[in-house]
Amino acid sequence: MENRKYQIGFIGLGIMGKPMVKNLIKAGHQPIVFNRSPAPVDELVGEGARRGTSAKNVAEQSDIVITMLPDTPDVESVVLGADGIIEGARPGLLLIDMSTISPVATREIASLVRAKNVRILDAPVSGGDKGAVSGTLSIMVGGEKRDFEEARPIFEAMGKTIVHCGDIGSGQIVKACNQIVVAVVIEAVSEALTLGSAAGVAPEVIVEVLSGGLAQTRVMDLRGPTMIRHNFEPGFKAKLHLKDLKIILGTADKYGVKLPVTNIVEKMFTDLVKSGKGDLDHSALLTVIEEMSGSFGSKIKAHETKG
Ligand code: NAD
Repeated sequence: MENRKYQIGFIGLGIMGKPMVKNLIKAGHQPIVFNRSPAPVDELVGEGARRGTSAKNVAEQSDIVITMLPDTPDVESVVLGADGIIEGARPGLLLIDMSTISPVATREIASLVRAKNVRILDAPVSGGDKGAVSGTLSIMVGGEKRDFEEARPIFEAMGKTIVHCGDIGSGQIVKACNQIVVAVVIEAVSEALTLGSAAGVAPEVIVEVLSGGLAQTRVMDLRGPTMIRHNFEPGFKAKLHLKDLKIILGTADKYGVKLPVTNIVEKMFTDLVKSGKGDLDHSALLTVIEEMSGSFGSKIKAHETKG
């Protein structure tokens, strides 16, 4: 395969990054990997990856460096900070940031790295941990079309729907649109489960019936069964969705767009994270709706024990 000629570096080996690297290994690559905590590095080295000792060290040895980090400040420090990618990058290196971060910051980072002859694509993803494991992520890419075409075989090792969205930052804009819909749908599913359960219908019935009509949604397909059981193992951490909602509202401000429902849902996510549940799956938003209405969470559980 053409893409194996590239030495890939990969930084950020969490819920998403680790399975993405495994898919690159399956496609015949031997990525050089680095992470803040060492455990995922050890695991991936056991499966055929090479060990990097810092972001700079990874960049020094790579043609393409992929970052999959939590938030904007993490990407800024790994790319531009001490011992960062920019310190180790050879001219012409292609940096692909697959994290979800601010589109405005992405454009600022791009102008700084381009000044050092480093090429850059923003390529955030959707499809969650399951999509990362199965190599079926949707990947939305911003940047030069020719860089996108060069990286396409690498994206194909990790994803299925791969779209060039426009100039640098436009992948992040599309991702922001995606995160509005996911957050609002989680909130709507939570309201439906809380109301139905409080009024005496088993939540399984609500999920089953809604899944067969116009209300069918992938959020309910994937998370409905776990929400009913109050199993909020991530998945996508609530604190990361709050981060995305802040990015969305900041971007809306910049373009003078009003997002009334997103504003309300952002406040609910803020309450969720403040209550100490930021590391739970974003579907734990259900508990905020339940707490607003009294003890309906226990009604969901009561149905479960009866069933
Ligand atoms: P995560 O918290 O599980 O993983 C992030 C990893 O980055 C961790 O292993 C952490 O140790 C590492 N890291 C943080 N700072 C670092 C640094 N300075 N140097 C090296 N490593 C560092 O997060 P995740 O769920 O894998 O998400 C990563 C990105 O993907 C986020 O921007 C998130 O919004 C986005 N995303 C996540 C999902 C999902 O379902 N989890 C889906 C789509 C997009």
